[in-house]
This record gives sequence, structure tokens and C-alpha cells, in this order.
Amino acid sequence: LKLLDGRTAVISGAASPRGIGLATARLFARHGARVAILDLDETAARAAAAGIGEAHLGIGCDVTDQAACDRAAGAVLAAFGKIDILINNAGITQPLKFGEIGPDDWQRVIDVNLKGIFCLSRSIVPHMRKRRSGAIACMSSVSAQRGGGVFGGPHYTAAKAGVLGLAKAMARELGPDGIRVNCVTPGLIDTDITQGKLSDEMKQKIIEGIPLGRLGSAEDVAGIYLFLASDLSAYVTGAVIDVNGGMLI
Ligand code: NAD
Repeated sequence: LKLLDGRTAVISGAASPRGIGLATARLFARHGARVAILDLDETAARAAAAGIGEAHLGIGCDVTDQAACDRAAGAVLAAFGKIDILINNAGITQPLKFGEIGPDDWQRVIDVNLKGIFCLSRSIVPHMRKRRSGAIACMSSVSAQRGGGVFGGPHYTAAKAGVLGLAKAMARELGPDGIRVNCVTPGLIDTDITQGKLSDEMKQKIIEGIPLGRLGSAEDVAGIYLFLASDLSAYVTGAVIDVNGGMLI
């Protein structure tokens, strides 16, 4: 069963080889979608797309740069003719404590995780509005729900909490235009973003608090993005889906 036959998807932050974005791009392609991978480095984005197959596109795009997002959206529309799905996945973290965060740290973390969703959505929503159809999924985090405490700093937690508000406001406003907007809130997922930021001892302690007894995988999150991108979730908007192994029970 192919859930995304004939659909086109834009996925931000999807060039990292072990990341959630690339796992999502692969899964979407297996389900019949053409995907556009957006990431900071053009060469890496192209290589990631080519690794999935020749129907796909890789584009260099810093999601905090509105002009770059507009250019990327234009390139996807020129190549694919339409955009059905937007996965706002790009993000960065810094394992800093409140007192260690400087103004530049604050700005960059808020910009990539929160403003980036605004900018890329701003480039693509007008197109979806015209077609009266679209599915948008945004990356938040369990940090937003429990006030951090996993690996991101308070600025990361604030940005990811902002994502929940932005996505719900977009869901409310864009629903009448046929556009659905939802969020995922993963727990600790084993990707490069956590590499070197947690000691084995800290990881073990976290796993002890997870009923399913393991960290999440990129594929665990990709499956939820697939659900939110497909017609299986046709009546779901403004929702927040936990992918955390039961961490919050
Ligand atoms: P990752 O570092 O592998 O992926 C993040 C990707 O975003 C990278 O490819 C990076 O190059 C890209 N990126 C960074 N800044 C960008 C920018 N300005 N413009 C475009 N792309 C940019 O890590 P991941 O774990 O796959 O993270 C994906 C998302 O999941 C992030 O938003 C992250 O905050 C979120 N998340 C991760 C976890 C986890 O435990 N791994 C938990 C909750 C949420």
C-alpha cells in the first residue's frame, strides 16, 4: 500500500545521513512521493536526494533566510509542479544551561527551530492555499512539554514550545483553506544531534525512565510524519503526536 502516490513533499533538514529528515524522505519515496530535500549545504542535500533516486531534488537552503526559502519553493514548483506536503523538520540544539546562554546563542536557536518554520511555511502556504490542499507537519520536542531536561538548553525548549503555538495557530487559520498543520514531539531519538552531547551514563538514566526501554530511531519519527502527511490523518489538524516511548506517562 502506497500512502503518498503522486504526492510531492518538501522536507527541511533532511541531508544528515542518520537524521530524522532523511529517514522521512526515504519513507515518503517508498510510499510513492517525490521529495525535495532542503538543507544548509547544497552538495549534501543533492547527494542525499540522489541517494534516494533520480526523481528527487536536493536544494541548499537556510530556513532562517526568507529569500532562500522563496527560491527553494520556486525551484521545487518548477521541478515538481506542485507541493502537497511540507515537513518543517530542520533544527539545532545546544546543551547549555540558562546562565550559559548568550544573546547570539539565543537568537540562532530560536531562529532555526522556530523562525525557520515561519519562513519556509510562508514560502509554500500561498501555493497550498491556491490549491486548497496541503499537509504540514512541524518538529517540536518533548522538551517543550516537560521544560527541557533531555538535552537541549532553555532556548531550545522555548523555541520548540513556540512551534506548538505557531502550528496550532496555523492549523486554526489555514483549516478553512484545506490545509492541515500538526506537530510531532519526539523524546530522545538516536541521531547525530544527540551525539557527544550525552554521556553513556546520562543515556542509561534516560532509558530507565522510558517504558519501551530504548531510545527512539529516526524511522520511529518518520512513520508519524508519514501518517500526518497522508490521507490517513485527513481529519487531524492542530494535533500534537508524542513519539517518546512512553516517557511522559
Ligand atoms: P540532525 O542534526 O541529524 O538533523 C537536523 C538537520 O537540520 C541537519 O541536517 C542540519 O544540517 C539541518 N539544519 C540545521 N540548521 C538548518 C538551517 N538553518 N536550515 C536548513 N537546515 C538546517 O538531527 P535530528 O535529530 O534528525 O533532528 C531533526 C529535528 O528533530 C530537529 O528539529 C530536532 O530539534 C528535532 N528533535 C530531535 C530529537 C532527538 O532526540 N534527536 C528529539 C526531539 C526533536
